[in-house]
Amino acid sequence: MGDKTGEWPKPWYKILYAPWRIKYITSGERFEGCVFCNVTSQKDEEALIVYRGKLSYVILNRYPYNSGHIMIVPYRHVPSLDELNLAELAEMMLLLKASIRALKEAYRPHGINIGVNIGEAAGAGIAGHVHIHVLPRWTGDTNFTVMFSGTKVVPEALEDTYRKLKSILPDKVMEVIREEGLEWDTSS
Ligand SMILES: [Zn+2]
Repeated sequence: MGDKTGEWPKPWYKILYAPWRIKYITSGERFEGCVFCNVTSQKDEEALIVYRGKLSYVILNRYPYNSGHIMIVPYRHVPSLDELNLAELAEMMLLLKASIRALKEAYRPHGINIGVNIGEAAGAGIAGHVHIHVLPRWTGDTNFTVMFSGTKVVPEALEDTYRKLKSILPDKVMEVIREEGLEWDTSS
């Protein structure tokens, strides 16, 4: 399977990338320390951050299982959900709610997986910095190609996913905030 995913989560299957995205495999990007901590100092487009909250942010998975595979990440570097405070968890749930709506609108998935891997034994690629995976699913997307060869093609370019969600997610966050009558100004 090789080790071409740098510091990013390493899926159990090998992903065949569309040719125009080959640079993400071969560029040999190296990160000092934790990628989830370091990535926030980059520009949104470079980092693939689609939303920045006060306590957490939403970022595209650079090595997605499916188009629209995003992660909700607290700014604070802790390995497990139980080490986050309720304000952090509440904001992550707000961003999760908005993210589900954004993915439904952008991708019309048949289903959505939401998951947290705590610890390497549980499959966490970046075990030191907890994060929530949100993953659109379609009937038949786990097809024989994945089952028998461990390979999978992700058809949409990350740039397209980024543009789509960057244009939809902030509105969905505001929608949730309005519905709940929250006072939060998550834009700051
Ligand atoms: Zn970190």
